[in-house]
Amino acid sequence: MELLKGAEVSAKIKEQAARMLEKLGGNVPKLAIVRVGERPDDMSYERGAIKKMEGFGLRVQSYVFPADISDQDFKEAFRNINQDEDVTGILLLRPLPKQICEADIERMIDPAKDLDGISPSNIAKVFAGDGTGFAPCTAEAVIEVLKANGIAISGKRVTIVGRSMVVGRPLSMLMLKENATVTICHTRTADLEGTCRSAEILVAAAGRAKMLDKRYVGQGAVVIDVGINVDENGKLCGDVDMDSISGAASMATPVPGGVGAVTTAVLAKHLLLAAGQKSG
Ligand code: NDP
Repeated sequence: MELLKGAEVSAKIKEQAARMLEKLGGNVPKLAIVRVGERPDDMSYERGAIKKMEGFGLRVQSYVFPADISDQDFKEAFRNINQDEDVTGILLLRPLPKQICEADIERMIDPAKDLDGISPSNIAKVFAGDGTGFAPCTAEAVIEVLKANGIAISGKRVTIVGRSMVVGRPLSMLMLKENATVTICHTRTADLEGTCRSAEILVAAAGRAKMLDKRYVGQGAVVIDVGINVDENGKLCGDVDMDSISGAASMATPVPGGVGAVTTAVLAKHLLLAAGQKSG
């Protein structure tokens, strides 16, 4: 089984990003990372994003708010960031604390700055197969991993485990745009094992540590593991049991070091696209 390393895909996106940055002629775009509270997952993603932006030669600033900030105060602060001419794009770390109405923020965010595809207009574009909007970075990262490794998507049987608005659903639409035949699985799927096993490309985005073992993987399948979980020993792991599937899958992405590394590279690419659109 060949391991599909995220770093190699990220390096390819970096080359593309360097050309995009050059075209901007010294106007280095700025990413605003908006975080409420101190959730370890958010902080780890934030650190990764900052490192990636800096590595790509882009500007980044974190805007951090206390976990108990009121809905009104957060909206006011968010409005200012959203309207700031110096901010090219925004990454909002979610979920937000319960007292803040997340749906209002999704409607507030300027679609042109909405790099992670949370606004209704960007979501509508993804579902309509219109490539001019921003898709959620993780969903797009899965497509980037496949393309960068020369894995054909068109006509393939693709099964996605997970139907969230962050990964499963938008990814199913991106796969459809690439002419895959898509099946989406979730907790009510009757024959999860068989449905997964019949896939030529299997994407795991369930958030269940090592849930998918060799019983779920057809011979020669390509397995993309989006999951980020902690195993019984406190170690980071995906949704796929890598040791178990190694005899069945032809290729698979590791966790860590797979899709996660590509997600922040896609974020950087989106920032540069937003800057390009702004400069006309
Ligand atoms: P959610 O919890 O929002 O969604 C999980 C989905 O998986 C749901 O649709 C759920 O079904 C389905 N699911 C859960 N358990 C099972 C099961 N036993 N059998 C079948 N389906 C199941 O998670 P997210 O989409 O936000 O994230 C998924 C994973 O991806 C997480 O591990 C997360 O950490 C990771 N992630 C990784 C990113 C990256 O950059 N690599 C970025 C974002 C997320 P149902 O709808 O029926 O409940």
